[in-house]
Amino acid sequence: MQRFTYLLLMTVLLASAGMLPAQTFDKWFLDGVMRLDLVFAGCADETTYALSGVMKEPFYSGPRTSLIDPFDYGDHKFQVRDAASGELIFSHTYCTLFREWQTTDEATVLRRSFPHVLRFPWPKGEVVVEIYDRDRSGKFVKNWTVKLDPASIFTDPVIRDEFETVNLEINGPASEKVDLLFLAEGYTANEMDKFIEDARRSATYIFSEEPFKSRHVDFNIRAVKSVSHDTGTDIPGEGIWKNTVMNSGFYTFGIERYLTTMDFKSVCDVAANAPYDQIYILVNTDKYGGGGIYNFYSISAADNTASRAVVIHEFGHAFGGLADEYFTSSVAYNDYFNLEVEPWNPNLTTLVDFDSKWIAMIPDSVPVPTPPTQEYTGTVGVYEGGGYVAKGVYRPMIDCRMHSNNAVFCPVCSKALVEMIDRYTAR
Ligand SMILES: [Zn+2]
Repeated sequence: MQRFTYLLLMTVLLASAGMLPAQTFDKWFLDGVMRLDLVFAGCADETTYALSGVMKEPFYSGPRTSLIDPFDYGDHKFQVRDAASGELIFSHTYCTLFREWQTTDEATVLRRSFPHVLRFPWPKGEVVVEIYDRDRSGKFVKNWTVKLDPASIFTDPVIRDEFETVNLEINGPASEKVDLLFLAEGYTANEMDKFIEDARRSATYIFSEEPFKSRHVDFNIRAVKSVSHDTGTDIPGEGIWKNTVMNSGFYTFGIERYLTTMDFKSVCDVAANAPYDQIYILVNTDKYGGGGIYNFYSISAADNTASRAVVIHEFGHAFGGLADEYFTSSVAYNDYFNLEVEPWNPNLTTLVDFDSKWIAMIPDSVPVPTPPTQEYTGTVGVYEGGGYVAKGVYRPMIDCRMHSNNAVFCPVCSKALVEMIDRYTAR
């Protein structure tokens, strides 16, 4: 009886932490991925969704013991429910480039559409997918729902862009590791040896720094030799346009260094060649730039002299949900963080609900807010300035990998990254 109570208690505790036993995966899911191709459309204050297709992909690499996302991160969340019982069987939090665009001036005068993709393990029976968007008050609000039948004849199993995948480093089964996948962008067929070399070097950058260094064996690293017609990428400010496999370019939202691709569907078509939890797009250019969006993708120039710093920084965004702690560089966003609301990112606070953040990591002798003086260099505190504004948003350390190119991750960012690695490696 005691043992039964213990097991019941453990089940409740595991369920509340989003950690469900592996048999739960087998109850609801088969191998493979159900992929919804969607279209976002809207403007600054309007988001609509429409379905453009359902694909069947071969590789689900996420943790099978943690099907419910334990982190309250992201600008969006989707949930998958068993259609018959209504039971929640999967959830995932993420951000998108569309949502960033909604904070730009252009979004106040123009409606645009962006392709989007959602992926979850292939369900055994009919499911209902619910998409939530975070509103200005910080709450997730349900925006769109669709019912899907895995037996439908309209699920397309074809990998549209078939390319060779190279295993750079395999440390264990995909379901128990963080699967990092490099994609080649702006490399021609003759430049694939360079791409593999660039991908190896970029991985070395990430794993040269804590907390990734100590957790290196918790990652698998692969690279897709995705061939482009042209070398390089678009540089609209210089009138340079290239035909590349994922349609990337500088000058996103008018910011020269902001290298991204709005064509997320092409990104996912390329990534479908291999198992992945995180996508890293390497762009064959030496021009400074990059971007990283939480559970969406990281992207950066392969050959810039600052590439090491940029690769690690962007991966911090995409993998850890970390926010920019800087506030002096120009960005295209307006009021990116609502000062009346506690941001969801683990490494920023507006002090609206600081108890939910890193308060336990601050020594008693350190004042809150903390003056950015010599005395507090290297000390966790609450320093004003972060999230693109000098006032009203606070960061955990004077300097950090998310603040400048010259620092390592602060203890608060490191803790968030470790928690994310732990989730993917839970058995
Ligand atoms: Zn930090």
